[in-house]
Amino acid sequence: MTERQKVIAIDGPSASGKGTVASRVAAALGFDYLDSGALYRLTALFAQKKCVEWSDGAAVAALAESLPARFDGQQVFLDGEDVSAQIRTEAIGMGASAVAQVPEVRQALLQRQRDFLTDKGLVADGRDIGSVIFPNAAVKIFLTASAQVRAERRAKQIGLPCEGVAFDRILADIKARDEADRRRAVAPLVQLPDAHLLDTTQLSIEESVKKVLDWYSKV
Ligand code: C5P
Repeated sequence: MTERQKVIAIDGPSASGKGTVASRVAAALGFDYLDSGALYRLTALFAQKKCVEWSDGAAVAALAESLPARFDGQQVFLDGEDVSAQIRTEAIGMGASAVAQVPEVRQALLQRQRDFLTDKGLVADGRDIGSVIFPNAAVKIFLTASAQVRAERRAKQIGLPCEGVAFDRILADIKARDEADRRRAVAPLVQLPDAHLLDTTQLSIEESVKKVLDWYSKV
């Protein structure tokens, strides 16, 4: 077997809480953290700012190739501008899901993701971390939760009630993005045979973090 990389790969659907769990695991272990979804979100936002259609694969891939992105803790910068809030909107999430279906865009972002790994170790979250970006990760996790619970977490995050029209919209968006991410031809979201399943529907963040740390301590 090829040597395992000092990487914890956490893949899963949108709003599953993987970012929170992954960044806390990284902090506990002193590893770096990669939010790969932010790169797709930045690409979608960059295209929007440049008036490039998300459906124009070649043009979006060229933008992804030269993405002027910088991460500083929780903050994300695009061309020097703090876009941390801008990339978190549901509209940019849909844009990210659209541009992520283009093989050339994924290719353009591949090495950039691998470059996040240093001797410190890395916790990376996304959809294809264990399958494509770091197939030799020490631990692979498929982190999920029911669509209803994910929608409730997203609603709380943005200060909306967990019922009503706005909530139904969030739930519908989450389900639509799940479908798009699972059905796409390139690097679809799947639970790998060698990934641990972490269903957080009934788990707190602390319990989820502990599970990941337990798995890592056993490799
Ligand atoms: O994880 P997040 O919701 O921020 O990701 C936004 C979108 O980017 C996802 O819906 C998915 O389509 C895409 N993505 C991806 N591969 C990754 C991370 C995100 O295709 N590794």
